Amino acid sequence: MNPQILIVEDEPLIRMAVTDALRGNGFGVMEATDGEEGERLALRESVDLVLLDVMLPKRDGFTVLRNLRRDRLAVPIIMLTARGEEFDRVQGFEHGADDYLVKPFSMAELLLRIRALLRRSEGGAPGVDGLGDRVRFGDTEVDFAAFAVTCLERRHGLSRRELELLQYFLRFENEVLDRYRLLSDVWGPGGDPTVRTVDQHVLKLRKKIEPDPSAPRHLLTAHGVGYRFTRDGKASQ
Ligand code: CA
Repeated sequence: MNPQILIVEDEPLIRMAVTDALRGNGFGVMEATDGEEGERLALRESVDLVLLDVMLPKRDGFTVLRNLRRDRLAVPIIMLTARGEEFDRVQGFEHGADDYLVKPFSMAELLLRIRALLRRSEGGAPGVDGLGDRVRFGDTEVDFAAFAVTCLERRHGLSRRELELLQYFLRFENEVLDRYRLLSDVWGPGGDPTVRTVDQHVLKLRKKIEPDPSAPRHLLTAHGVGYRFTRDGKASQ
């Protein structure tokens, strides 16, 4: 089966150009012209990746993004934003966008980003090697298959990146992990993220996995270096 891409874009010329390019490269394409329809299609149809415009009639792209992640839709989402439009990257990534492109973008660039994200998501959301689909530590249980974490009976969705970051911490438990190492191993080469991006994701993760995010017991700061993860949950120093 060819991967199915949903494009949610109200500008007909862009929508048509993207649709043509994707079909010409062997992708299946579904189109939505406003946020409501886009959200409905993303949840109802079998979609492998979503291209989501920010400024949309009826429901804006950020609201759609938040709603989809709240409903734990785990497919990659690329935000499309107009040049000059202040795209809040932090807000985008915190709400679970995987990538974004500023219009006008080249079709080559778009295809490159789509293929990279599809490759990454091909295997679904496997658990950490040898740990299975669920991992418990302290008051927290992570359900990798569902992209979700439950802490003190509160359930939170995880974006793909948050899940990958958490998996990485679990894999290298008790090691002090340099922020640059996290950036290169979890985010990969290229792209725009900086070590600030790592910090922002750690803050976000703490809100989901820590009983008290302001006094982390698992995801600890290694001052001046990066972070260290531990399952045994002693109070941090
Ligand atoms: Ca638009």
